[in-house]
Amino acid sequence: MDRYAVVGNPIAHSRSPQIHAAFARQTGQALRYEALLAPVDGFARTVADFRAHGGRGLNVTVPFKLEAFALATRRTPRAEMAGAVNTLAFEADAILGDNTDGAGLVRDLEANLGLALAGCRILLLGAGGACRGALLPLLASQPAALTIANRSVDKAAALAALFAPEAGAATLDACGFDALAGRRFDLVINATSASLAGALPPLPPGLYAEGALAYDMMYGRGDTPFMAAARADGAARVADGLGMLVEQAAESFTLWRDVRPDTAPVLAELRRQIDGS
Ligand code: NDP
Repeated sequence: MDRYAVVGNPIAHSRSPQIHAAFARQTGQALRYEALLAPVDGFARTVADFRAHGGRGLNVTVPFKLEAFALATRRTPRAEMAGAVNTLAFEADAILGDNTDGAGLVRDLEANLGLALAGCRILLLGAGGACRGALLPLLASQPAALTIANRSVDKAAALAALFAPEAGAATLDACGFDALAGRRFDLVINATSASLAGALPPLPPGLYAEGALAYDMMYGRGDTPFMAAARADGAARVADGLGMLVEQAAESFTLWRDVRPDTAPVLAELRRQIDGS
C-alpha cells in the first residue's frame, strides 16, 4: 500500500492523519497515512528512511518547512515564492516540493466562505512563513489592494518588495500597525502567531469596511482572541483557519493522487469534534 505521512516535531497533535484517512476512504484510494516524529536535527535522515521504505509523499510542518525547501530537487513556482515547502512528492529520480498553504487559504475563503477576492481590499497581518506562503495565491486572485502590516515593519516591507512583480493591477504596500489608523478593509487575515499565546496584534479600531470578513489562520474551539476582537470592532463575519488546514491537505492529496476529495464533510466532522472537545 502506498505510504504517506506528516513529518514534524512535535507531531502528536496533528490532525493530518485523520484528514487524509477520510480523503482516502471517500475517494477509494488505497493508501496509508501516518504521523512521523523527526528529531530536530534529523529531518533529512527521517525523510530518506521513509522514502526507502515505500514512502510516496510527505506533508511537512513546524519546524521543517525550510529544510524541506532545501531538500526538494525541483519546486513549484508557488513553493519557490513562499520560500518554504509543506508538501513533498517522491518521484523516480526527483523530489518535488510544493507549498499548498496559500492555495488552501484562498480556497477556504472563496469556496467555503463565499468571498470573492477579486476587487477586495485585503489586510494581511504578519510577515512570517504563513504570510509569505499566502501572498502569491492571494495576489493571483486579483484583489484591488493588499497591505502587509507587521510588528517588525522592515520584514513587511521586504515581503512587499519581493512580491511587487506579482502584484499585477493590485496596490501592494507594507506598514506597521499604527499606520493602519483610518483605513478600511474588506478582508483582514491574521497570519501572526499572536493568537497562539492568547495575544492580539495591537490594531487601531475601525478597520472593517461594511460586510468585512476577519479571518484568523489559527483555529480552535470557539472564537480565537483575534476573532472576538474583530467582532467587537465591527467585522460582519469571522472565521478561523480550520478550513485552510483541510483545504491545504486536499491540495496535497490532489497532487499525490490526481483525485480531488470533497472537503465539506471532512471539515464538518473536524469542526464537530473540536467544538465537542
Ligand atoms: P512565524 O513564526 O513565521 O511568524 C510569526 C509572525 O507573527 C511574525 O510576523 C511576528 O511578528 C508575528 N507576531 C508574533 N507574536 C506577535 C504579537 N504578539 N503581536 C503581533 N505580531 C506578532 O509563524 P507562521 O507564519 O508560521 O504562523 C503564523 C500563524 O499561522 C500561526 O498561528 C500558525 O498556527 C498559523 N498557520 C495556520 C495554518 C492553517 O492551515 N490553518 C497553516 C500555517 C500557519 P515579528 O516579525 O515582528 O516577530
